[in-house]
Amino acid sequence: MSIQERHVIACPACQAELEGQLVDSLNARRHPHLREALLARRLHVFDCTVCGHALEVDKPLLYVDFDRFQFLGCVPGTERRHGRHHAEALVGAFDRAVRSGPAELAAQADRFLVRITFGYEELREKVAIDAAGLYDLAVEALKARLVAAEPWFQREEVVTLSFDGLEDDGRLRFYPTWLLARRASVGHTVWAQRRLYDDVFAEHETLLDQLPGLASGPHVSLLRLAFDTTAPSPQERPAS
Ligand SMILES: [Zn+2]
Repeated sequence: MSIQERHVIACPACQAELEGQLVDSLNARRHPHLREALLARRLHVFDCTVCGHALEVDKPLLYVDFDRFQFLGCVPGTERRHGRHHAEALVGAFDRAVRSGPAELAAQADRFLVRITFGYEELREKVAIDAAGLYDLAVEALKARLVAAEPWFQREEVVTLSFDGLEDDGRLRFYPTWLLARRASVGHTVWAQRRLYDDVFAEHETLLDQLPGLASGPHVSLLRLAFDTTAPSPQERPAS
C-alpha cells in the first residue's frame, strides 16, 4: 500500500495554510499516478491556492515497485552527510521486507535495485535510469567523465548532472546540478551520445577500481565523491 496522510503545509511565500497529501511509503504498482508524479517532478509539489507559489515538501519516503524490482529509500538532501547511516537503515528495511519476506518474494531478492537517494530529483533519476534500461553505476561514471571534460562545468560550479531521459536517437539527456539547488536546473540541457555510455558500460566491472568512492552498498552517486557521508546520525551520537 501507499501510506498517505493529510498534512497542513504553510506556503513559504504568503504563509497561507494549505492541505496536502503526503506519502511515507509509495507503492508504484498500486499507485502508478504517484510514479508518474515523481517522473514529472510533481511529487509532493503543491500550488498555493492563494498566491500560486509551487511549494515542495521534502520528506523521507520509501519507494517500492514490485513489478520493476525497485526498493528505493529517499531522504532529504540535507541528510547526505549521514549517508552511511541511511544506507544501512535501507538495507535493514529491505532484508526485513524482501529477503525475510514471503518465500515467493524472497526468491526474487537479488533482482531488486536497492538504492538510497537524497532528494526527489535523485529518486526520480534512479527510476528514470532503470526505465531507460541503463545501469546507474555506469551513468554515474559517465557523469564524472562529462563533468571533467568540459571546463564550463567547473567554471559554473556544476557538481553533477541529473539524468532526465533518453532522446529518440539514443542520446542521454542530463541537466546540470548546482550544489545548493534542490532540483536539477531544467532548461540547461546536456546531451551525451549513446556510444559514450556504451564505452563506460563496457568497463562496468572495473569502474569501482577507477573511482572507488562512486558507490558503497546501496549508495551509488557521483556526489559521494564531493561529500563525507560517514557522519553519525543524531540518534547514533552519544549524549553529551
Ligand atoms: Zn502562497
